[in-house]
Amino acid sequence: MKYAPLQNYIAGRHAAPSSSRTLEVISPVDGNLLSTVPMSTAADLDKAVKAAKAAFPAWSRMPIKERVQVFFRYKYLLEKNLAELAALCSEENGKTYQESVAEIEKCIELTEFATSLPQLVTGEVLEVSRGVECRTEHVPLGVVASIVPFNFPSMVPNWTIPNAIALGNCLIIKPSEKVPLSCGRLAELLKEAGLPDGVFSIVHGDVEIVEAICDHPGIEAVSFVGSTRVARLVYKRATGNYKRCLALGGAKNHLMVLPDAKPEMTAQNVAASMSGCAGQRCMAASAMVGVGNVDHIIEKICEEAKKIVPGENLGAVINKESRDRIEKYITEAEQQGARVLVDGRRTVVKGKENGTYVGPTVIDHVKPDMSVAREEIFGPVISIMRTDSIDEALAIENANPYGNAAAVFTQNGGLARYVIDRASAGMIGVNVGVPVPREPFSFGGWNESKFGVGDITGKSSIEFWTKLKKSTTKWNPEAGVNWMS
Ligand code: NAD
Repeated sequence: MKYAPLQNYIAGRHAAPSSSRTLEVISPVDGNLLSTVPMSTAADLDKAVKAAKAAFPAWSRMPIKERVQVFFRYKYLLEKNLAELAALCSEENGKTYQESVAEIEKCIELTEFATSLPQLVTGEVLEVSRGVECRTEHVPLGVVASIVPFNFPSMVPNWTIPNAIALGNCLIIKPSEKVPLSCGRLAELLKEAGLPDGVFSIVHGDVEIVEAICDHPGIEAVSFVGSTRVARLVYKRATGNYKRCLALGGAKNHLMVLPDAKPEMTAQNVAASMSGCAGQRCMAASAMVGVGNVDHIIEKICEEAKKIVPGENLGAVINKESRDRIEKYITEAEQQGARVLVDGRRTVVKGKENGTYVGPTVIDHVKPDMSVAREEIFGPVISIMRTDSIDEALAIENANPYGNAAAVFTQNGGLARYVIDRASAGMIGVNVGVPVPREPFSFGGWNESKFGVGDITGKSSIEFWTKLKKSTTKWNPEAGVNWMS
C-alpha cells in the first residue's frame, strides 16, 4: 500500500474513526492499492460538527478582509504544490497528468475569486424614511457541509471550500470514497495557510455519513455534487430536515452540429469534449445531433478520436464496474442497430494491464430512444443522432431529462441565438464544447441536473452560503415618531 491508511480530519488533526470498517482506494491507472479509507459513523460526524461549532464564533466575527488573507496564502500554496497535487489527482482518479494540472489550475482560479469576495459581499444602505436607515448584511450560516463526487477530487471540493469558508462558515467535507486522498492534502495546505483549527474538517465515509449530514441538527446547509439519483435523495432528506440544500446531479449534454460548422474546429471540440477526463465530466459532450448532411464533420471527428491514445492522452475510467458499464452501453447500441465507427471496448494499456481503460468511441446512427442516447454513460463515448432540422434537434435536446449543458456548432449567428433561446440547459456553448462559465459567472444546470435555487460557484454562491440580516436604525430624535417607530 503506497500511502498510510486515511483518517478523518477534525479540529485541525487527524482523527481515528469510531468504526473499523474501511474500503480500499485503488488507482484506476494500474490497479495498485493506494490506501484505505475509513467508513465513519454518525458519532464521527458529531465530533466534526462540535469542533466546527467551537471554531465558528471567532471565525465568523473576523472581518472578511482578514479571512480572505488565508486564501491568498492558500492560492500561493496551490501554485507551489501544483505538480504534487496534480500527480496525486491522476493517481487516485485516473485522469492524465495534464488534465490534473488543469484541475489544480482551476482550483487556483476558484480561490482567486474567493479573495475578491470582500469587494462583492457589500450590503446596501438606504434612508427609507426621514432619519431612518435600513441596512443589509450578508451573515454566515454556521456549520455547513459539502458532499462531493469522484470525478474532480480537488476542483469540486474547491467549488465550496474557498467561498463557503471566506464567507465566514465552518465547512465539513465528505469526499468521494473512491478518491479521498486529494482532500486530505488540501486540508494540510489550508492549515499551512493559517486557517484556524475546526474551520475545515473531513469526514470520510459512504451512505451512512451522507445521511448523517442531512440529519444533523447542527448543520445549516448542504451542497451536494454527484449523480442525479443521489442528488434527489440528498435534496429531499436535507430540505426535509429544514436545511438549505443545493444538489447538483448528472448530465447528458447535447451538441448540435450544423452543416456550416467549421469542420476542423468542430471535430476537435467534439472529440475533446467527449474524451476529456475519459468522458467523466458532467460537462462532457455525450450526445451529438447532426442537422442535415454533416458526414464530412463526422469523418473528421473519427479522425480526431483515433488520435486519442489510452494511457497517453486519455486517462482511465474510475474502476472496473464503470468500464464494464460503459462497454455494455456500446454493445447494446450496436445490437440495436447503431454503427460503432470508433470502438474503445477491450482497451488494454501495455504495462498497465490492471488499469481500467476505455478507448474513445464514436457511435453513429443512434436513435433517440436508445439507452446510449438517453442515459448518462460517463465514459469517452459520443452517440450521434441525425435530424433534418434544427427544431428536431432541439426537440431531442429538450426531451432529455437532464439540463446541465448544450452546445451548437455553426457559423450562423442567428441560428446560434435561436439555439441559445430554446435549449433546455443551464450552460450553453456556441462553438465551445465544454461551456463552463468562469468566475464571477456561476456554474449550475437545470432540470434533473440540479435541485435547489441558485448556482454553486461565482456570485451565486454568496446567496447560498450566507443569510441576509436587515437592520433598521434611527439616531436623530428630530426624525420623530412615524408608522415605522
Ligand atoms: P455519486 O452520486 O455516486 O456519489 C456522489 C457522492 O454521494 C459521493 O460522496 C458518494 O459517497 C455519495 N453517495 C453515493 N451513493 C449514495 C447513496 N446511495 N446515498 C447517499 N450518498 C451516496 O456520484 P459519483 O459517481 O461520485 O460522480 C459522478 C456523478 O457526478 C455523475 O453523475 C456526474 O454527472 C455527476 N457530477 C455532476 C456535476 C455537476 O456539476 N452537475 C459535477 C461533477 C459530477
